[in-house]
Amino acid sequence: MENKKVRVRFAPSPTGGLHLGGVRTVLFNYLFAKQHGGDFIVRIEDTDQTRFVAGAEAYIFDTLAWCGLQPDESVLHGGPYAPYRQSERKPLYRQYAEQLVQQGLAYYAFDTADALEAKRKEIPNFQYNHQYRNQLHNSVALDAATTQQLIDNGTPYVIRILMPENEEIVFTDLIRGEVRFNSSQVDDKVLLKADGMPTYHLAVVVDDYLMKISHAFRGEEWLPSSPIHILLWKYLFGLEAMPKWAHLPLILKPDGNGKLSKRDGDRLGFPVFAMDWTDPRTNEPAIGFRERGFLPQAFVNMLAMLGWNSGQEQEIFSLPELIAQFSLERVHKGGAKFDYEKAKWFNAEWIKKLPAAELLPLVKPILIDAGLTIANDDYVEKVIDLVKERCTLLQDFVTQAGFFFQAPTQPDTAAIQPKWDAKKQAFFEQWLAVLPSTEWNAEALEQQFKALATELGCKPGELMLPFRIMLVGGKFGPHVFDIAAMLGSEAVSSRIQNTMQLL
Ligand code: GLU
Repeated sequence: MENKKVRVRFAPSPTGGLHLGGVRTVLFNYLFAKQHGGDFIVRIEDTDQTRFVAGAEAYIFDTLAWCGLQPDESVLHGGPYAPYRQSERKPLYRQYAEQLVQQGLAYYAFDTADALEAKRKEIPNFQYNHQYRNQLHNSVALDAATTQQLIDNGTPYVIRILMPENEEIVFTDLIRGEVRFNSSQVDDKVLLKADGMPTYHLAVVVDDYLMKISHAFRGEEWLPSSPIHILLWKYLFGLEAMPKWAHLPLILKPDGNGKLSKRDGDRLGFPVFAMDWTDPRTNEPAIGFRERGFLPQAFVNMLAMLGWNSGQEQEIFSLPELIAQFSLERVHKGGAKFDYEKAKWFNAEWIKKLPAAELLPLVKPILIDAGLTIANDDYVEKVIDLVKERCTLLQDFVTQAGFFFQAPTQPDTAAIQPKWDAKKQAFFEQWLAVLPSTEWNAEALEQQFKALATELGCKPGELMLPFRIMLVGGKFGPHVFDIAAMLGSEAVSSRIQNTMQLL
């Protein structure tokens, strides 16, 4: 690795909730930084005030906190290159744009919005570029004196990059290898707006330079912008100082047809955002992975596998394991199809993997929200251990464990009745009689139950289902004697009696 300290950045524009693609970008940045003992910076790119959405920035930081992807430097965490919000860095950028104008690499453009609109109407596929810039109202087309006069008169202007004609722009992408563009494909992008605010293109390059970013990883959708950034680097700071680029593969719809969008989530019924997000402009709510019952460990693990693989069979990785194993060489070029069933599989595996004590603070509020009365944490932890194998989402604990806290109100007697007879009736009556004096643990209960069944000429296997339904309400749940042991003698007796009354 080169001498330069590894410094990566996630540079979101606060325009909405963070969807899984955004979190995956954070994750790959984070993993790379931590693997190299580097810094992970979060820079808020809010130069486009028209797209600013209240609450989006706080949402981004909440998501990172939930995922355990802590920035080293950011608006919230501070750092040596503050401020980390571009709108607060506004005075920094103009000098770079002016420098480019002085060098003949950028120019002032005075065109009004109306004039540009008229051009777009007049010329199909109009682009502000080498082909048309001479016919427009700018310092390339006008003489120096006129330009100066316009500026002195306070005529609003923007500064545009002068894209060279037919020049090859080449750079090496760490995932894609050599990437080539022809400069004629790109128009003369605005670098500095009339109000003095930089556009994204200028700000991203200046800040990556000033913040000493060594590697810039971002979504593939930014690839078409890269020739502008490469040129700006070349003009302003020299290509040696430029960060190494990696454009991460897109996350695709489940059928592989195009980029995954929020609408796909709505249409197919799965979350696309990390956490619940309500767009304040439309009041339209969208469910998040967190609220759907995902563990952050599972969410992060699932995202890591969207576009990367370890090269081994192993699919379950903790964050420290991902830090150790991640490599850009194993990031694919092609898009990664999102598979909600697979996402749930990761969650189920993580629920199984985590100790009950870690699940407790997440599961307990869900049980309480469902109206269950929780007496003590020890009991809940034991319950979690008994049922976690059966839960895919955290909410599944309500159905899988509810009966540990509340007697079934409508036991499935229809499943018992067809095979219910006097012998079974007699068995449960006697079982009720011996219960209070039975040693209270799963093994002893099972032994007693089977011994009594044999004594009364019943098949223990045929008694197990009714017993389960009496305790649980339906045909599900862990080992029935584990359930009985947990519930205790009184609850077991009363549940047997209650159900028998219904038969
Ligand atoms: N502000 C851009 C975004 O919203 C950042 C792109 C980049 O990382 O260069 O994603």
